[in-house]
Amino acid sequence: MTDIKIDSPELGDVSSYLRDRIRTVPDWPLPGVQFRDITPLLQDPKTLRVLVDVFVHRYMDARLDLVAGIDARGFILGAIVAYELNLGFVPIRKKGKLPYQTVAEEYELEYGSATVEIHADACKRGDRVLLIDDLIATGGTMMAGRKLLERLGGVVVEGAAIVDLPELGGSRLLRDAGLPLFTVCGFDGH
Ligand code: AMP
Repeated sequence: MTDIKIDSPELGDVSSYLRDRIRTVPDWPLPGVQFRDITPLLQDPKTLRVLVDVFVHRYMDARLDLVAGIDARGFILGAIVAYELNLGFVPIRKKGKLPYQTVAEEYELEYGSATVEIHADACKRGDRVLLIDDLIATGGTMMAGRKLLERLGGVVVEGAAIVDLPELGGSRLLRDAGLPLFTVCGFDGH
């Protein structure tokens, strides 16, 4: 008889179950950066299911109209969560990638600036939108995504990410700006 091992996270410990399976890659893409790599969560069918279910459970009664995901890892989780909630999905992309009429928002990075864009018809006035990315560092990307959705008349019900890097202050900044925020786990250090 094959020995089938049954293991599941302890109830109440989903956050550390997922956190323990995020890979930290030091000095990537630049020296000094600790890259929090969520691909192991996607690769393992068990963690992918737990991860998606955390979001589906949180938002299934939120009367959402739409999920927006941020380029590029926000597309993966965002699209699955949208599908599971029986909602549509819209991408917020880096400049120059969307083919149709766009609205753009520029924001500051540590060195220089970046621009994100959304299709002008991505959401309707009054749509209740969930905004998803993989990680919040300085919060600039999510803030820009929120502004784009609001310029189209959307109501961003919550920003959501897998990882928060609280020392970089982004999550505090977003909350102070009035955006409710949900993150699954946090890491100290950059
Ligand atoms: P920010 O705009 O500073 O909040 O940066 C968030 C965006 O940059 C997200 O789309 C992340 O995918 C990416 N990012 C920033 N820092 C990291 C990091 N340490 N590990 C993984 N992704 C990061």
